[in-house]
Amino acid sequence: MGKINLKSLTMEELEAFIKESGLPVFRAKQILRWIYEKYAVSIHDITELSKDLREGLSEKAYISNFELLNRQLSKDGTEKFLFGLEDGETIESVLIPDEDRLTLCISSQVGCAMACRFCLTGKLGLKRNLEAYEIVDQIIAVNRVVKGDFARGTKFPLRAITNIVLMGMGEPLANFDNVVDALWRITGLMKFSPRRITLSTAGIVPKILELPQRSPMVNLAISLNATTDEVRDYMMPVNKTYPLKILLDACRKFPLPPRRRITFEYVMLKDINDSSEDAKRLIKLLKGIPSKVNLIPFNPYEGSEFERPDDERVLNFQQILLKGNITALIRKSKGQDILAACGQLKARYMA
Ligand code: SAH
Repeated sequence: MGKINLKSLTMEELEAFIKESGLPVFRAKQILRWIYEKYAVSIHDITELSKDLREGLSEKAYISNFELLNRQLSKDGTEKFLFGLEDGETIESVLIPDEDRLTLCISSQVGCAMACRFCLTGKLGLKRNLEAYEIVDQIIAVNRVVKGDFARGTKFPLRAITNIVLMGMGEPLANFDNVVDALWRITGLMKFSPRRITLSTAGIVPKILELPQRSPMVNLAISLNATTDEVRDYMMPVNKTYPLKILLDACRKFPLPPRRRITFEYVMLKDINDSSEDAKRLIKLLKGIPSKVNLIPFNPYEGSEFERPDDERVLNFQQILLKGNITALIRKSKGQDILAACGQLKARYMA
């Protein structure tokens, strides 16, 4: 029998494994702390356990680690990491430093099945879901790098990741159980506040409704991207199953904690969804939903069929939303020169 990867176990599974190994249950807590707070690379790192104990455990178990295959730094400070998984698949995570926060954008799947027309990841199709530990390990792996860099100089303003967005490769709600498991580990074991985590979805309605019952109360972002079903059907096939009305009704029902809002992402595509009429329709669609809008001018890539609207058009769209009392931010694209911006992640397997 192969060795057990301790990272792949839930808290309960680890406790069961520890008991089966004839050890007292508190050992499980110690191991969890070393994995999720101290980022132990191997069982041998866990010096809180005696050498004999570590050797005994190592005969049956191990701790997996991503292979850091590539690290690219953008002119604007954004950094993209390419990780190799145990089965040879690859995923990307993007680190976005700001003055007062260090945001990591993580992937939830290898590829994506949603097939949104404007998204490069969508062109890949789905390879497989990530396991919960593979979702979490992106944070561990990048935090190790950040810590090392911070110790060597002042490249990063902060010594650890402060915010997490599930906006990398994949559709998190299409990998629901593993994403929920990962969110419990990130908040429970790594002690991340759910308020600093945002899950972004293309709009899988039943899972949006199930999320608050199953998961820690993270922030919700919806990739809306259009204001009519006709345009949204064309851009995002998921809209044929869950059209705008159903999606926005689900948002209205979503049990938001006090003072929280739903973020609506709106990728702006020239001459497709960037008109004044679109902006006005958007105001109507969002009536009754505590919301804010992030306008994301399209990030082009080789072979993309869409164009980015002129700045003037984006500003005009924003002005209309603001006049309609909607908080609207224009998201500066980060990391475009290294294909690290929204919708540009493709990892290695298509190269
Ligand atoms: N599947 C999830 C998360 C990944 S996409 C979702 O759909 O929300 C993250 C964001 O990038 C989405 O809002 C998506 O609409 C946006 N996006 C995808 N491709 C883009 C591109 N080429 N330019 C700008 N934004 C893009």
